[in-house]
Amino acid sequence: MKCSRCENEAVIYYSQGRRALCTEHLEEYLLRKVNRAIRRFRMLEGGERVLVAVSGGKDSLLLWHLLKRLGYTVEGLHINLGLGEYSELSEKISRGFSKQHGYDLTVVSVEGDYGINIIRSSRKLRRPPCSVCGTVKRYILNKAAVESRSVLATGHNLDDEAATLMGNILSWDVEQLRRASPALPATHPRLAKRIKPLIYVTEKESATYCLSTGIEYVLPECPHSVGARLSAVKDALARIEDRSPGTLLNFVDTYYRRVRDILGLSGEAREVALAECPSCGYLTSSSGPCAFCRLKGSFS
Ligand code: SF4
Ligand code: ZN
Ligand code: ZN
Repeated sequence: MKCSRCENEAVIYYSQGRRALCTEHLEEYLLRKVNRAIRRFRMLEGGERVLVAVSGGKDSLLLWHLLKRLGYTVEGLHINLGLGEYSELSEKISRGFSKQHGYDLTVVSVEGDYGINIIRSSRKLRRPPCSVCGTVKRYILNKAAVESRSVLATGHNLDDEAATLMGNILSWDVEQLRRASPALPATHPRLAKRIKPLIYVTEKESATYCLSTGIEYVLPECPHSVGARLSAVKDALARIEDRSPGTLLNFVDTYYRRVRDILGLSGEAREVALAECPSCGYLTSSSGPCAFCRLKGSFS
């Protein structure tokens, strides 16, 4: 099949609008989508620098590439989580991509730089690995963004965002809904602004672009990935989208542009009840040391 915009072979087909795009026009379309998200939610203003959380997965590599193409000052940060072969492969792929494109990348090792072993901590504290891992990633990414005076960008795509929103609606987790936003402002000097510029880009578009341009990305799932409920919601939404294209975009876009205001859930309650950690100075919701300092402490 030919691209609807030129004579090249199409790599993606949209049943809605009966359009097909070649790699070049898919990239142009993705750049427009990212640009629209950035402007609509005021993600980046006045020459702000960006720090992209690079996991080595397709979405983070695509985000890094599109922000560079749009002319932003961008640096990548990869965290080696110390999760065996999966982490080694993720670091190798992130480094390879950075080298191939000449993009700046910093690599932080959870074990080497902070002395934390996620799996041992999880067993010792009787917390699921993903809960410990989430604490570690949030802390390191926020700290790196604050220290480099950058906005932190993550590669959540439309399918991820729709599944998270729907999951929170199904369980009426009002606090999570209140915290959710495509752009969370920096409400404290030690809290970085966070943005999700791929919020209008679908999983299919992200995977198609990476495959058609030969971007190598991490395919295996993390061995600790268990998100059964979220995957079930994601699968159900994918089936709905298949039968009724455009549903996910309308769901996410309308929620953030209109519905959350109507419901009074406009994502600005982030700093409520947060105090400075007496040990590192970063914010915490507990009265003593923050969760990250407690993790470090559990090994001393
Ligand atoms: Fe971390 Fe869990 Fe994600 Fe693995 S699946 S990278 S342990 S949060
Ligand atoms: Zn084309
Ligand atoms: Zn701390």
